[in-house]
Amino acid sequence: MTDFLQQKSVNSVAIFGGTFDPVHNGHLRSAIEIKEALGVDELRLMPSHRPPLRGAPGAESRQRLAMVAAAVNGQSGLRVDDRELRRDGPSYTVDTLRDLRAELGTAVSLTVVMGSDAFNQLHRWQDWQSLFSLANVLLLHRADYPLAADATVTAFVEARRVADASKLTAVSAGGFYELGLIQLPISATDIRQRLASGKSISYLVPDVVADYIAEHGLYTQCKT
Ligand code: ATP
Repeated sequence: MTDFLQQKSVNSVAIFGGTFDPVHNGHLRSAIEIKEALGVDELRLMPSHRPPLRGAPGAESRQRLAMVAAAVNGQSGLRVDDRELRRDGPSYTVDTLRDLRAELGTAVSLTVVMGSDAFNQLHRWQDWQSLFSLANVLLLHRADYPLAADATVTAFVEARRVADASKLTAVSAGGFYELGLIQLPISATDIRQRLASGKSISYLVPDVVADYIAEHGLYTQCKT
């Protein structure tokens, strides 16, 4: 059988974006739990090229991409998506979703995942209302970032809330759900600080990521 015939058709895709500077086990464990909660065919981790609302990452885009690709290699239903790195200029999610829609068509269920840290800033995002005509939104609670969204955003999503995460895959766009996960207390900032002070990052990131960091001498200076 050819590769083409072996490929399953994809009816539902979720996007988990981030700086991934570097990707760590907190991201990866959540990726699996999100995929299971939504019941999506594919969860794509999407490294951001130039995050519009934060400083320059400690590793280059291609290095962050390589670490994510190595981390998800062989994991069923997890993929890396490099489209934001192929585009110049700031990485606005609305542009990314337009691009994805053009690739996937209108029928595929598309869900964008955002942590409460990102959601609290949603009112500052480029053309944020349009996100909901292009995709569903899954809000991921983070214990260290209590929900404090803008009032307009809160009212907007309330009208779009569905009863269960799996309901999002029944519609192509426009739904909203809040997911509480047990999250591992790991952050990329902490990992960069450990590396800059010569400490171990074993068990915080997959071995392939730790090996990549060591091989390329990344994060030896702390930029936080
Ligand atoms: P930094 O410490 O550099 O801010 P980070 O560890 O928060 O990085 P990001 O790349 O900014 O990681 O996060 C990408 C996405 O992953 C965001 O939606 C964020 O909320 C989520 N995330 C970050 N850390 C965790 C974690 N430990 N568990 C689950 N999700 C996480």
